[in-house]
Amino acid sequence: MSDKDTYSILFEPVKIGPLTARNRFYQVPHCCGLGHVRPQAHAAMRAMKAEGGWAVVSTEETEIHPTSDLSPYAEQRLWDERDIPALRLMTDAVHGKGALAAVELVHNGSHAQNLLTRAPLLAPSDRSLEVAYPKQARAMSKTDIREFRRWHRAAARNAKRAGFDIIYVYAGHRMTLAQHFLLPEYNDRTDEYGGSLENRARLIRELLEETHEEVGDHCAVAFRFAVDEMLGADGMQAQEEGRATVEMLAEMPDLWDVNVSDWANDSITTRFQPDEGYQTPYVEFVKSVTTKPVVSVGRLTSPDLMVSMIKRGVVDLIGAARPSIADPFLPEKIRTGRVAEIRECIGCNICVSCDSLGIPIRCTQNPTMGEEWRRGWHPETIAPKRSDTSALVIGAGPAGLECAMQLSRRGYRVILAEADDTLGGRAMREARLTGLAAWRRVADHRIHDLQQRANVELFLQSRLSADHVVELSIANVFVATGARWRADGVGRSSRRPPAISDTTVVLTPDDIMDGRMPDKGPDSGPVMIYDDDQAYLAGVLAEQLANAGHRVVFVTPANIVSPFTQYTLEQERIQSSLLDKGVTIVTGHKLSAARDGRCDVQCVYTDRMRQLECATLLTVTERVRQCGLFDELQRLENAAIETIELIGDAASPGLIADAVYSGHMAARHFEEDPHIVAQQLFRREIVSLEDT
Ligand code: ADP
Ligand code: SF4
Repeated sequence: MSDKDTYSILFEPVKIGPLTARNRFYQVPHCCGLGHVRPQAHAAMRAMKAEGGWAVVSTEETEIHPTSDLSPYAEQRLWDERDIPALRLMTDAVHGKGALAAVELVHNGSHAQNLLTRAPLLAPSDRSLEVAYPKQARAMSKTDIREFRRWHRAAARNAKRAGFDIIYVYAGHRMTLAQHFLLPEYNDRTDEYGGSLENRARLIRELLEETHEEVGDHCAVAFRFAVDEMLGADGMQAQEEGRATVEMLAEMPDLWDVNVSDWANDSITTRFQPDEGYQTPYVEFVKSVTTKPVVSVGRLTSPDLMVSMIKRGVVDLIGAARPSIADPFLPEKIRTGRVAEIRECIGCNICVSCDSLGIPIRCTQNPTMGEEWRRGWHPETIAPKRSDTSALVIGAGPAGLECAMQLSRRGYRVILAEADDTLGGRAMREARLTGLAAWRRVADHRIHDLQQRANVELFLQSRLSADHVVELSIANVFVATGARWRADGVGRSSRRPPAISDTTVVLTPDDIMDGRMPDKGPDSGPVMIYDDDQAYLAGVLAEQLANAGHRVVFVTPANIVSPFTQYTLEQERIQSSLLDKGVTIVTGHKLSAARDGRCDVQCVYTDRMRQLECATLLTVTERVRQCGLFDELQRLENAAIETIELIGDAASPGLIADAVYSGHMAARHFEEDPHIVAQQLFRREIVSLEDT
């Protein structure tokens, strides 16, 4: 059977209320940092997914009222009819590519902060906000509840006017008023909206009924519901009130969109949950309780698993947020038998971090994500070559691989030289560390692509010098030689090197990735990891060394372990995992000196010194750009080299996503008019000064 036949079940239409989805691929609501602030970029991004074959494309959270103001985060907004034109951009664009458009209406209750509107915050019962901001939400009066229902109804009406086909009622992620009413932890009311499950679900029932009344003639009403909070008996559980809620409301929505709560569980990273379809055990009961179609998620990228989920009756529609970001053309690739070309999500949550940071979405695997309108980038197409010239790419890390791949897709002859005996650079090296195995997909996908192309030559174990480059006599050179971790302790908290004696054993992450481990014996002292990078790597190394039986002391100037990972929803898991493994954590201290098996660390608040035992010092602070070759080539002024460009970590150390983006951009801009490239840095959405 061909791929097309095997997967044909995925392309059966599915009836959702009064509508029909053209296949089973459903992009569930997900944030993107574009929202109401960048409506054109948002519309183009969603339309790309429709073009890629998704049958339903949803918005992110769409605030229904100024009392649910998520500023400064750029979510969608449908406070009133003035927001319709911006949303209409999306529905028109999505319909233009043959998909249905869904809108996730939301009131965030005490999850909002109302920083822009300064409106009072609303909740079932008096509660502090979840974030550390000194504000409290007030218990809603009966009038408040009536008002809220009226706002939801009006938003549904406006959503229909904006052209949406599927309108959501949303009770998930511990982020919405509807869910807060349902959870006893948030709701201690004694009226008909509190107490029994039936009472706590009353508001949801009303919202479903009223949304139906308002838009049900033309639109489908979806209910997004977290069936399990993964808190055991301390929260909602799929087999307890989760199931009872589905049973109670079974036939009310036209579609059940079910998942687990909170966001860190729903969008868990591969570091902590490598399995695809990880939500199945929680959500699979839903279809046995309702006759309505069911969609769910779980980082689904394998078409075989998708088929099995349909056949086993787990779901009717394959939901995806992150897999649709990593590859907007996932459905189309399956439909046309190009499964090997799918860019699989690696579950790193860099896309998620953008929302927590309030910046436009970006993705490690898909550098065009968020750039569809702003730069006019398409994930599957790229301008053809402008001449018959050739390119030499030096270094096959994420930047070099992406650059070489895109140049070859443009039709240029490409030579890719890599010093190591494997391709992939840091993506492959980091993938060898605990929990990061999925990261090798960054390299795998690109290597597979490059190996198919006749215009590409790959050379391993080829550390090029300037003389080699001159000898090769290739007109265009892209230098992607990466960056190496420094060993002198310099970083964001110490701009001058701490006093590290020559006798101190110092390792860097590169040493560990090269297989050089600290000494371990019954008498060997602890490894001190000094993390001034404050991202993910030091935590990964601490885990790896602790697993290998080392005593580990983790010192950081930050207040918590790996603060950047708050944005990827991993921080709590990392800190608790290190504590569980017996790692000693010393926060708020920076490295001052190291000698004689000890380190002096200094409190960043009081300057007080403390001594810690340290047999091996593992510094994770900053990286040094490897641009010696680039500098030398520039100095040569060799006539045969027409262009030379530094890309990736060698140009600016950052995330793998940044290196991929840099390689992609270099390939896109190659041989384009530099004046135009400079002028069109990117398009901006400039706010009109009209008073609305
Ligand atoms: P990036 O993230 O920018 O892609 P990486 O550090 O992942 O950077 O990859 C850089 C790659 O460049 C490494 O695989 C390294 O082995 C390779 N490299 C470094 N110097 C040379 C060189 N002179 N010739 C060929 N390859 C090199
Ligand atoms: Fe997946 Fe990472 Fe891309 Fe998000 S950023 S879609 S988690 S690969």
